[in-house]
Amino acid sequence: MSDPDRFIPIIRPVLDEREADAARRPILTGWVTQGPEVAAFEREFAEWVGARHACAVSNCTAALHLALLAVGVKSADEVITVSHSYVATANSIRYCGAIPVFVDIDPDTSNMDPTRIESVITERTRAILCVHQVGMPCDLARISKIAERHNLPIVEDAACAIGSEILWRDQWEKIGRPHGTLACFSFHPRKLLTTGDGGMLTTSDAEVDSRLRMWRQHGMSVPDTVRHESRQVIFETYPMLGYNYRMTDIQAAVGREQLKRLPEIIQRRRDLAARYKQQLSEIPGVTPPQEPDWARSNFQSYCLRLPAECDQRAVMQSMLDAGVATRRGVMCAHREPAYAAGVWSCGVAPGVCDCPPGQCVRLSESECAQDQTILLPLFHTMTEADQDRVVSALRDGVSGGGRSR
Ligand SMILES: *Cc1c(COP(=O)(O)O)cnc(C)c1O
Repeated sequence: MSDPDRFIPIIRPVLDEREADAARRPILTGWVTQGPEVAAFEREFAEWVGARHACAVSNCTAALHLALLAVGVKSADEVITVSHSYVATANSIRYCGAIPVFVDIDPDTSNMDPTRIESVITERTRAILCVHQVGMPCDLARISKIAERHNLPIVEDAACAIGSEILWRDQWEKIGRPHGTLACFSFHPRKLLTTGDGGMLTTSDAEVDSRLRMWRQHGMSVPDTVRHESRQVIFETYPMLGYNYRMTDIQAAVGREQLKRLPEIIQRRRDLAARYKQQLSEIPGVTPPQEPDWARSNFQSYCLRLPAECDQRAVMQSMLDAGVATRRGVMCAHREPAYAAGVWSCGVAPGVCDCPPGQCVRLSESECAQDQTILLPLFHTMTEADQDRVVSALRDGVSGGGRSR
């Protein structure tokens, strides 16, 4: 049954009594910060994605910061990434004092265009930070060949990509094994698995994993769980500059419940996405997300491209007037005031772009994607009737106000 007046939000997290009950556990034991629930969540998460090690942190931005430190990114280094991502991707590079070097995207997948990487590699390039944007895997096979050739580590921003898969040496593997040196996940409510806030790093390297564990807890040599259980007095030391990037046990207890639901959440999203694709084929000029044959998205967001002559804001407003929330396509960091000239590069020279502010000819596909794509509502409890309403609001928006330009 469809209620024509019901507002359709962009996403609604899948949370109920199970998560509420799980949160009671740590609260009633009194161990509420990083402890046994975090350790269990890490084990279960590692097993789920097929990683050797998983290290929980306070959010994905913290995870990205630690991942870049772990591969040795330092002040004045360059890290190759995309501008067309949530701003946290590029911010994490700047936390290390390094310079984000933006390459343009492939317009079909909205992910890093591997053909543009080699021309921006310099002797200061320290890493490649690639993004699986809105859950669509980027071309890791091609990116890793380039990385190997230049001896560069890969960090994967997998914030949105839990449960997404790629074909890797003829086998489907989940994002996060990882296929680079480290992969970083987010548990913000806009993602598929939420703990309120939260993040996870995965790696195959035990030594990297142990460094992450010290960094996230103030650089302390002994975890407080160990000190707590010891029958001998232990004096900890602080051999390195650390951070407070801990996840709490309350969050981890919720995350463990969410992990159990994940297969069902992903299947539902894939079913809804397939139904969108079929329905959108009837709206001329609208391009649904393109899934390469080596990728399976989790459809964290459903990002479609409007006809080129459409006014994005007018379409979105028309849909909002019809009770349907949308969001503008993924942002471009280089167009934000926080990314003034000098803090980023598009490969011309470090920190220099000779284009007008907010416009870069070398990042034109990124800008075009920001201006011509929108995200449609997609959530677990969405009904087919909801979906029909979204599609009809989009059709009206595209044929009406959206043509106002
Ligand atoms: C959400 C997101 C982040 C940031 O995740 P937080 O957990 O909110 O820090 C980073 N990168 C991408 C691509 C994201 O979508």
